[in-house]
Amino acid sequence: MADYSKEINKRRTFAIISHPDAGKTTLTEKLLLYGGAINLAGSVKGKKTDRHAVSDWMEIEKQRGISVTSSVMQFNYGDYCINILDTPGHQDFSEDTYRTLMAADSAVMVIDASKGVENQTKKLFKVCVMRNIPIFTFINKMDREARDTYELLDDIETVLGIRTCPINWPIGSGKNFKGVYDRETKHITRFYAANNGQKEVDTVEVELGDESLDALIGKEQHGILSEEIELLDGASSEFDLEAVRGGKLTPVFFGSALTNFGVETFLKHFLSMTTTPLPRNTTEGVIDPATNEFSAFVFKIQANMNKAHRDRIAFMRICSGKFEAGMEVNHVQGGKKLRLSQPQQLMAQERKIVEEAYAGDIIGVFDPGIFSIGDTLCSTDKKFCYEGIPTFSPEHFAKVRQVDTMKRKQFLKGVSQIAQEGAIQIFQEFNTGMEEIIVGVVGVLQFDVLKFRLESEYGVEIRLEPLAYEYIRWIENKGIDISKLSVTSDTKKVKDLKGNPLLLFVHNWSIQTVLDRNKELKLSEFGKE
Ligand code: GDP
Repeated sequence: MADYSKEINKRRTFAIISHPDAGKTTLTEKLLLYGGAINLAGSVKGKKTDRHAVSDWMEIEKQRGISVTSSVMQFNYGDYCINILDTPGHQDFSEDTYRTLMAADSAVMVIDASKGVENQTKKLFKVCVMRNIPIFTFINKMDREARDTYELLDDIETVLGIRTCPINWPIGSGKNFKGVYDRETKHITRFYAANNGQKEVDTVEVELGDESLDALIGKEQHGILSEEIELLDGASSEFDLEAVRGGKLTPVFFGSALTNFGVETFLKHFLSMTTTPLPRNTTEGVIDPATNEFSAFVFKIQANMNKAHRDRIAFMRICSGKFEAGMEVNHVQGGKKLRLSQPQQLMAQERKIVEEAYAGDIIGVFDPGIFSIGDTLCSTDKKFCYEGIPTFSPEHFAKVRQVDTMKRKQFLKGVSQIAQEGAIQIFQEFNTGMEEIIVGVVGVLQFDVLKFRLESEYGVEIRLEPLAYEYIRWIENKGIDISKLSVTSDTKKVKDLKGNPLLLFVHNWSIQTVLDRNKELKLSEFGKE
């Protein structure tokens, strides 16, 4: 029997999370550079024209010049085979961003040193915590004026609720940034502003307190560093790999992605601390990634907006065994056997056909419209299902109506299908029928995607009327009488496609008020399948 464990143990699959502009793209580029996956830093975002020459996936991408869905980049570094899952950040933030995290085994959180923890990081962090995956912190832009280091760590601990363990420590910031001190090896890596980012600078082996350090980083900063390290050694959490792997402690690194300072050190430590592809739970128990049987689950479906190619691509995370092009698998939810044709892998912005892939890898396969988010594929006849992907809370809501009332049927069909794919969520007033449809999205761009697709694919023009609701909670109590719930004036009672009851709120504080008024009520931020 073939043994795939060697290939699988080489794999490290992670997502990079951050608030827009913290430096996620810059860090990704530098990581790819170390793997030799791209020749020139700068090609992740690339020149718009270059990128669109290879990507004709979405018309809207071209119109907006942004990437609507996340991609995966694979590269080799040393003995490792690394898969980076890109999580779209700016206006293109969507439910897919969250779903991508379901395919990762760990996350790298990039934080802007002058800003600390920002809103989008918080949201993405919550999803990582839900899965208990290891989270690594890269505090970026140390070459710029930064907030106090202790304050930054405190921010992570209090806002995100995870303990921190600095692996290295910055020596000054901005104009006074002199480099980092490695707490374990006690070495100092000196930063030179002129170093414009192609290579890591030399590391100096000197003990704190050694006179030669005065010349290297200045007497004053040497003094400050010694004090800080003494304080840190007494006060910070001890490094504990188990706690890191369990998502309870985040190792913290300082650097500057733009000048490529601290990036390779980070990569090396990260690779040694993060996990190989994790076993995942199914209806038949936990599946070992190294078994010989192929299995995978779909975490994202990307519709092609180009009219000439109406295909969709289903992205799946391989959870066990080996994938071979053209192999026949069971589509468990669909109850059918099928051949996986045209498997693709994304390398930076290019698509290429893959012949083989292993647990930990992500592949995209042609989808004639049969897959749903969360579906399981496997090569055995056991037909187990991977744990589903939760529904994430939309944050923007709008009423949607078709302009031409004669097109009601196409309208309902289109809206339901697009919701089925997972691009939007649809809700109805609790007591009425399909008359009024409320659409909820995680990122506002999804409204445009909906409008565009209904017009181009279903010939239906729609009007969207924004609603003031921003918070949604699923009601977890079974059999509760929704009409008897005492709610605030800014609360709306709705149900989802499956008839599950939910509450929409305009204000955050109303959630607590409603909970206080209805003692037995249980609300959840994530919808179960
Ligand atoms: P993203 O939105 O998180 O992907 O952020 P980008 O990687 O696009 O970076 C946002 C901006 O910050 C760009 O102008 C980068 O050049 C800049 N930037 C990224 N890393 C650093 C850094 O380490 N130092 C400085 N000074 N600027 C940086």
